[in-house]
Amino acid sequence: MNLVPAVDALLEAHPDGVLPIVSAGAPVLRAPAARYGGELGAERFHRLLEAMRVTMRTAPGVGLAAPQIGLPLAIAVIEDPGVDDDATAAARERVPVAFRVLVNPTYTPAGPERVSFYEGCLSVPGYVAVRARWRRVRLLAADEAGNAVAEELAGWPARIVQHEVDHLAGELYLDAAAPRSLASDAHAPRWASEAVPRGAATVLGFPLEGAEPTPRA
Ligand code: ZN
Repeated sequence: MNLVPAVDALLEAHPDGVLPIVSAGAPVLRAPAARYGGELGAERFHRLLEAMRVTMRTAPGVGLAAPQIGLPLAIAVIEDPGVDDDATAAARERVPVAFRVLVNPTYTPAGPERVSFYEGCLSVPGYVAVRARWRRVRLLAADEAGNAVAEELAGWPARIVQHEVDHLAGELYLDAAAPRSLASDAHAPRWASEAVPRGAATVLGFPLEGAEPTPRA
């Protein structure tokens, strides 16, 4: 892909900044994204990031990776306003995340703990599924100004980062989700309302990695 004309065409076709989101089945979502090395130039890069922010907020979502708008580039944006429900927020360690840009991000686990929660993806509309992830990760990246980012994240922010960085490796959250946890929009509210998906695990019949072991009868 010739990046500059591709980005120009994308931005010109969507002057409101709301870019079409690519859904599962598109090859771009299955290819490793190329490291970004400044090829777009500062001004075009800034306009692209602004469009990604608008697209993420409009969807709405808490993260968006460039492959999701059809660009095979290792760039993602994240932003999470958090949730009102205290029990859910506490169980998921979901705290607000201010808008930020991750350029060429990678993560490594920062501890052995795994946690399982329902998760969804703007590129897999209509469904959610339970995905076990590292509770803590160490994030390495650059920000939009090229400054190095090296920090440890826990809870939901760590989950968002894992989800977005996985996109840049050509993965989707479903690749390692519990298959029997899959729930359509019609059923998602029932299960997503659980702080921890124990009822879903029992009723739908899937193992809940990372939850406390249940006593055996
Ligand atoms: Zn996604």
